[in-house]
Amino acid sequence: MKVKKFGGTSVGSAERIRNVGKLISGCKKDIVVLSAMSGTTNSLLEISSAIKNDDTKQASQLISQLREKYADTINSLFRTEEYKHKATEAIDAIFNELKALSEKTFSIKLEKEIVAKGEMMSTRLMNLHLHEEGFNSVLLPALDFMKIDRHGEPLEEFIKEEASKAIAAHPDADLYITQGFICRNQDGDVDNLQRGGSDYTASILGALLGAEEIEIWTDIDGMHNNDPRFVEDTRPVHNLHFEEAAELAYFGAKILHPTCILPAREHNVPVRLLNTMDPAAEGTLIENKLERNSIKAVAAKDNITAIKIKSGRMLLAYGFLKKVFEIFEKYETSIDMITTSEVGVSLTIDNEKNLQLIEEELSKLGAVTIDRDMVIICVVGDLEWTNKGFEAAALEALRNVPVRMISYGGSNYNISFLIKKEDKTKALRLLSYHLF
Ligand code: ADP
Ligand code: ASP
Ligand code: MG
Repeated sequence: MKVKKFGGTSVGSAERIRNVGKLISGCKKDIVVLSAMSGTTNSLLEISSAIKNDDTKQASQLISQLREKYADTINSLFRTEEYKHKATEAIDAIFNELKALSEKTFSIKLEKEIVAKGEMMSTRLMNLHLHEEGFNSVLLPALDFMKIDRHGEPLEEFIKEEASKAIAAHPDADLYITQGFICRNQDGDVDNLQRGGSDYTASILGALLGAEEIEIWTDIDGMHNNDPRFVEDTRPVHNLHFEEAAELAYFGAKILHPTCILPAREHNVPVRLLNTMDPAAEGTLIENKLERNSIKAVAAKDNITAIKIKSGRMLLAYGFLKKVFEIFEKYETSIDMITTSEVGVSLTIDNEKNLQLIEEELSKLGAVTIDRDMVIICVVGDLEWTNKGFEAAALEALRNVPVRMISYGGSNYNISFLIKKEDKTKALRLLSYHLF
């Protein structure tokens, strides 16, 4: 069994849905995870923000616009009146729920219910399309088995048991379709796995259900050696170790959700990145194999805040770092990069929610300086310390870029640089030019 995930662009129009339908029609007992049609999640968030601003007129206008888009999709996707009717009924029911939600008072809980509708709609359309084409696909509601705890971590035992039960209830199905991204939380409310979370759903299900492979189908032929949105002439990387892919995903390679490699790595299930627009392209295979002596790719993570705590001679005294870390733990803020010296410690965070409180407490330990709008540039490959020259090559590439922090040696697979936001594109291009 394989788990196959198709992203927003891959199901972004009637034509694309038909295309995916063809790609999965030969699958036997595979699990197909779908994102919302591209643009839908953003539209739903806009609707939610209109509700937040008490702008009911705007909310209902946006809902009508989205409804029209789905009516058009239904018209071109389905061949027969019977299926046009079935699809219209299914999508209307979801829009009626959306309308009812839009009349309620705004809350984060409400927003999560609203944003979940995108995956509900794409999966219903795909399932009905497959039925019209004569396939016995079954829609498994992700909200019956995808569940997270209060830290947003998947509840593995629950998911494994409930997803297996849902599958076993349909032994005659050709394939199973389910929603990516959406889940329930510890209170049983509708929640999600953060933007881009459908990759994570696929990896969690593939890992827990013992899939032979997890396929992530998207709009590009695999993981490229640099971010194609900022650098020209990037090339696909055909093989990546789990650790390399995990570093790239976490440090900004948008093709993968930041934590989606973790379940696959833990359960040793290979992940293959493929292109729906070019299904014959080799793509990228991510598995437990390392290609020695090579730099694989570069990625950038935006919206980073650097914090420096500078103190006198007592700084690196016994127990000092513990006090610093305890403050971040208390405010549930994780640290990405860290460097120390005799007089200070610099670290980075990507979540400013509790920054003010963190700053107040850190100030008791020393002088605190904060730099916002920074970017982490991460170079990934076989960066084991005994290899010579790779870190020097990366540094040489950045010789004309001001670098605020460098982190090397935390793993065998990455070297990271903290730079200013305005230097990001230049740095990415220089690294491509010098390293590949
Ligand atoms: P999906 O909707 O299928 O989940 P995403 O938009 O989330 O697709 O991810 C695919 C996009 O990721 C590509 O179109 C590309 O612009 C972007 N991207 C950023 N960095 C990389 C990279 N290193 N390799 C490939 N794609 C990348
Ligand atoms: N639809 C969600 C998003 O746009 C999840 C996903 O596409 O993976 O973020
Ligand atoms: Mg994505």
